[in-house]
Amino acid sequence: MIITALTLCFLNIYAANTSRDLVFRANESAVMDRIRVISASFSGLDSVTHESAEQILQVLGPRSYDRVVITDGAGVAVYDSMVGSNETGAQFLLSSVVQALEGSDVFYGRFRNGVVESYGCVPIMYYDVPIGAVYLMLSDSAQGALLQGLDETVFNLSVILELIVILLSVFSSGIYARKLRRILDSIRIVREGDYSHKIKLRSQDEMGHLATEFDALTDRLSISEQKRRQFVSDASHELKTPLASIKLLSDSILQNDMDGETMREFVEDIGNEADRLTRMSYKLLELTKLDSMTEEDREIVDIQKVCRKVLRMLRPQMEDRHIRLEDATIPGCTIVIAEDDLYQILFNLVENGIKYNNDGGLLRPSLEMNENHVIFRLEDGGVGIPAHAIGHVFERFYRVDKARSRMAGGSGLGLSIVHDMVVRNFGTVRVDNRPEGGACFTVVFPYRPAQEEEA
Ligand code: ADP
Repeated sequence: MIITALTLCFLNIYAANTSRDLVFRANESAVMDRIRVISASFSGLDSVTHESAEQILQVLGPRSYDRVVITDGAGVAVYDSMVGSNETGAQFLLSSVVQALEGSDVFYGRFRNGVVESYGCVPIMYYDVPIGAVYLMLSDSAQGALLQGLDETVFNLSVILELIVILLSVFSSGIYARKLRRILDSIRIVREGDYSHKIKLRSQDEMGHLATEFDALTDRLSISEQKRRQFVSDASHELKTPLASIKLLSDSILQNDMDGETMREFVEDIGNEADRLTRMSYKLLELTKLDSMTEEDREIVDIQKVCRKVLRMLRPQMEDRHIRLEDATIPGCTIVIAEDDLYQILFNLVENGIKYNNDGGLLRPSLEMNENHVIFRLEDGGVGIPAHAIGHVFERFYRVDKARSRMAGGSGLGLSIVHDMVVRNFGTVRVDNRPEGGACFTVVFPYRPAQEEEA
């Protein structure tokens, strides 16, 4: 607002000065022409005297000026038209007269007390030597009234404009304050836990953008809160089941008079449930760790090397199920990843490939690469995944066949860990069914040549 007021002030002054300049410039030629006529009338005379001046002005006819003063070469006024002036015979050394006596034409104008005054001074020359000067003053009150009117109009206009600016500022700051209050109220509501609250401020200004961003943020908060609740309820549900089994089994041992063999079976079941709990808590921990990864944890890793480590680790399970392993991996498929993540991804996939395979079934890990990508595939000859479940297997706690998964010691978390780890390492993962039966998991990572690290 201050800037607008200053701008208007400046425009006011500029407009006034410009209009004055225009008037003065229009007057200049008229005044100077008159003086030059008087000055030229002295040509041929070698000196300027009161008599010659009086004679010339008489010849030139009725006066068309307010005052004319004629000086000799020394700046002494030899003639002054102003009635009652006693300048005649005295030095008349105005700066314009001094400049004229040095040979220059001088003009200036001013606007004073509602009157436009024009002053001009021209030398009287004799063979290119100034021998005197003609000083003329002209005042014009009609032009003055015009300028005065113009000044007043510009002033009134700027006052009106400033008032409009002030009113608009007060009005718009009121609107802004109201929007700001609405945003602050919404922030408080969301801070108190109501993530579903929306500001819904439809406006195209910065406040509108802020409100839209805020609504998008609360949307995300609301989704992650929902996911968090879902996760907690799923996790507690999953943990409850083995705990309930342990309680049931131990109660049975305490209450029933059972033989040693049955009791051993019950205790073994308790042990299995406890193992399941351990595995589940380990996987839950893995999931919580997913967010805390830094760039330094990543390095260039050859997938084949890690895959072989996983296969070695799971060899006993494969042998138990007589799985036919066809290792079709190739060396040189290097990617940037945290090695522990890659190990976990491959471990979970291969473990599932064994768990959900048929006895004596095929397990075929393979690697392929092109200019930009490295593709890891794991095919198995197992039960495959029903079409309705394909879109869900990467969700937390999702299990196609609960009984089979439970029997195999599953928690429903393995593939969701795989998915999160692949995504956070800039890859993608998908699953398809093989036409000949069994599932095929495909993981794609960006390729990173090994030399880059050495370089
Ligand atoms: P789980 O611990 O139960 O194995 P996962 O998240 O690893 O949990 O897998 C989710 C579900 O996807 C499993 O319960 C299983 O039904 C299905 N699944 C995973 N891998 C395979 C596979 N190779 N073949 C068939 N079904 C599979």
